[in-house]
Amino acid sequence: MKILLVGAGLSGAVIGRELALAGHQCHIVDSRAHIGGNCYTERDADSGVMIHVYGPHIFHTDDQQVWDYVTGFTEFVPFQNRVKTTSQGAVHSLPINLLTINQFFGKTLRPDEAREFLLEKADTAIETPRNFEEQALRFVGRELYEAFFKGYTEKQWGCSPRDLPASILKRLPVRFNYDDNYFFHRFQGMPRHGYTALVEAILDRPGVSVSLRTPYRPVMAADYDHVFWSGPLDGFFGYSLGRLGYRTLDFQRFEHDGDYQGCAVMNYGDREVPYTRITEHKHFAPWEEHRKSVCYREFSRAAGPDDIPYYPIRLVDEMTLLESYVRLAEATPGVTFVGRLGTYRYLDMDITIREALDTAADFLGRLAAGREPARFSRPPI
Ligand code: FAD
Ligand code: UDP
Repeated sequence: MKILLVGAGLSGAVIGRELALAGHQCHIVDSRAHIGGNCYTERDADSGVMIHVYGPHIFHTDDQQVWDYVTGFTEFVPFQNRVKTTSQGAVHSLPINLLTINQFFGKTLRPDEAREFLLEKADTAIETPRNFEEQALRFVGRELYEAFFKGYTEKQWGCSPRDLPASILKRLPVRFNYDDNYFFHRFQGMPRHGYTALVEAILDRPGVSVSLRTPYRPVMAADYDHVFWSGPLDGFFGYSLGRLGYRTLDFQRFEHDGDYQGCAVMNYGDREVPYTRITEHKHFAPWEEHRKSVCYREFSRAAGPDDIPYYPIRLVDEMTLLESYVRLAEATPGVTFVGRLGTYRYLDMDITIREALDTAADFLGRLAAGREPARFSRPPI
């Protein structure tokens, strides 16, 4: 079959490769001038630092098959994300752990004592948290919530934490030991030569071709038997029903001679500081040595039509609109909507790869059984 894939990010690259392995002819188009989608990395010409151009990316997964898949293409160096936060004039350790609790409250508590202590701080009147704020008040209490989550979340999402689902906070653990690893996952690492090298290796396969600087046009579909779409779901339909809401990021670059902040990620919890965090990219590659440093202040705001969509908002209004687009997509034969934009979900890289592998397998299975391809890689609602 002749297959068109829109988007040369992880979704398009993995599906393209898997289908080419099965003997199909896969052509990928991307409007950008590079492969890799939002995982794209490049070396800074001046400092030599590997830059995560669309924001910092740390690979973490519990999925053995996905880990074997990525490490089969390029070398990964063990890397654990250890985030700090500046709030109310002090620096603390994240995610909230025993060091954070002891330093913040000026205590020397042991694990069980800290658990008891936070239980006293917690608002136990809230039985079932209905939103982000209630979740925080219920589990860490007002002081930690106001220092570390309230201001940051208002800046990140542009709304009150009372209007956000509790699930967003559930992504962050609270630990009653001194483990400050941001993630729980078994496998955590950074590709030694960057994510672009990973995607390049995935694409390096007979039967896969790529055209960059090539936005999709509906006439293209006529030349192919099937289309995999990893662009924005609403974009496929020309935004005819309106635009699904996204947050976008502005990155303000600055350089520093030496070590600017001593860690890769420093969050800023105070509402008065306009950015959410500063990332210093040479610390994402601690095995490299660079005298000069490149840092980015990260500002979040509502995405306009010409902005890069980063975080799907998925609040009530967007979910209603999403339902309408899902109905349109379900009525569109010959197209499978995939990836974080195609299914309007926040997806980490490991989940993106897992879904891409499953989507390709499902497509081949249906083809062999003479059944129609699925319209979505995963139901977005
Ligand atoms: P994308 O990477 O967005 O690729 C889609 C591609 O489609 C793009 O290249 C785009 O140019 C192209 N395209 C869109 N429309 C068209 C069109 N009309 N015509 C042609 N081409 C088009 N995950 C982690 O696991 N760890 C992290 O630490 C992490 N950090 C992140 C930080 C930020 C700030 C963000 C936003 C995401 C982060 N992620 C992280 C998630 C990661 O970026 C995604 O999992 C991954 O990029 C999804 O790949 P994709 O191929 O689905 O989408
Ligand atoms: N968060 C916060 N303060 C922090 C870090 C995170 O309030 O210092 C909140 C914020 O609302 C964020 C959510 O917790 O969206 C999930 O955090 P995570 O680090 O997973 O954010 P993401 O990777 O989505 O940017």
